[in-house]
Amino acid sequence: MDIYTQATQPITVMNPNNAVSPPLFQTSVYAFNDVEVVDELLAGIRTGYSYSRGGNPNTDALGDLIARLEGAEKGTITGSGTAALLTAILTLLPSPGRILVAREIYGGTVGVARNLLGPMGYTMEWVDTHDPEDIGRHFSQGPALLVLETLSNPLGRIAPLDQIIAEAHDRGISVIVDNTFATPFHANPQSWGADLVVHSLTKFIGGHSDLILGAVVGKRATVDRAQHIVDTSGMTPDPFAAWLAFRGARTLAVRMQQSSGNAMALATNLESLASIKHTYYPGLASHPDHQDARRLLERGFGSIVSVALTGGYDSVRDLIRRLKIVRFVPSLGDVSTTLSHPVVASHRELSTEEQVRIGIDASVIRISVGIESSQDIIDDFIQALT
Ligand SMILES: *Cc1c(COP(=O)(O)O)cnc(C)c1O
Repeated sequence: MDIYTQATQPITVMNPNNAVSPPLFQTSVYAFNDVEVVDELLAGIRTGYSYSRGGNPNTDALGDLIARLEGAEKGTITGSGTAALLTAILTLLPSPGRILVAREIYGGTVGVARNLLGPMGYTMEWVDTHDPEDIGRHFSQGPALLVLETLSNPLGRIAPLDQIIAEAHDRGISVIVDNTFATPFHANPQSWGADLVVHSLTKFIGGHSDLILGAVVGKRATVDRAQHIVDTSGMTPDPFAAWLAFRGARTLAVRMQQSSGNAMALATNLESLASIKHTYYPGLASHPDHQDARRLLERGFGSIVSVALTGGYDSVRDLIRRLKIVRFVPSLGDVSTTLSHPVVASHRELSTEEQVRIGIDASVIRISVGIESSQDIIDDFIQALT
């Protein structure tokens, strides 16, 4: 079944009267008149719900839906995308070890691997996923876990993920792929062998800037372990947020189709402006990973366009003041077009040297393209930049 159809199909929420919109189980707990039922539920002999930290119909339905969209056996939902990353790392590396992190990555991932897990004995190493020698060097130094993204934040870099994952597995190294930017609309990391795929549902899948949630999907046995970590650590999602994300996910395909088409049009237009030093979009022939993007992505190249402004930080400030419909929002994935400043927001965990190494500085802005008419978005940038 195609991704457009999949998300609209009925799914396994408890629904005795067949309501078309899934009922919301906004409850922390359930009442029983038989102690043995509770005993069996908690022992895992009987299926059902007793206490929402250990499972809720809405969060379970959302986990099933994300797994379905990703072509995975099972999914579990976490209180945030960051919790999904932490859960996935602890699932595959339950005691301190080496975490290999792709150089171009979300700052919060570094926050988890280096700042949170570092003091517990984990070590973090940067890997240049575009340099086979660097990969080989890190892979040959013993057991490790690799964390990378399909489309990197903010420059849309895409590494030859299928080859990297195959090589990692040859060396006994597990791989987590953060598929937040590409979404299952454009990329299917399970098909490249990813051990776990994580999402910030806060972004495109939720799609309306009204919730914070994450997901971990993969093989059933691995996700069962992940779910146990979520339950015991309390990184549990709220049922209403899951209900909203479920609703958002149902329109993911049409939103991504529109916003990625808009992104292509915007990138093409921005590339020719004198006030723009460089436009980064994997759909452009000028992007360093254009060939791998064409090989690995489906149905377009995503909805994130980044640009470096000729006039540096001052031009960034002016641009944000002059834009009329595009707002500065330090996040992404809304139905409206927004922009952010990675050095100030998403990548502030990185030192200046680390920022420079991945090619960003104060002149770079990241645009999350929405579902408006593409001409309105283009016109707004042109009036603000010229
Ligand atoms: C936002 C984001 C996260 C973290 O998600 P939260 O829901 O904000 O915790 C992780 N990875 C990527 C790529 C993101 O953009």
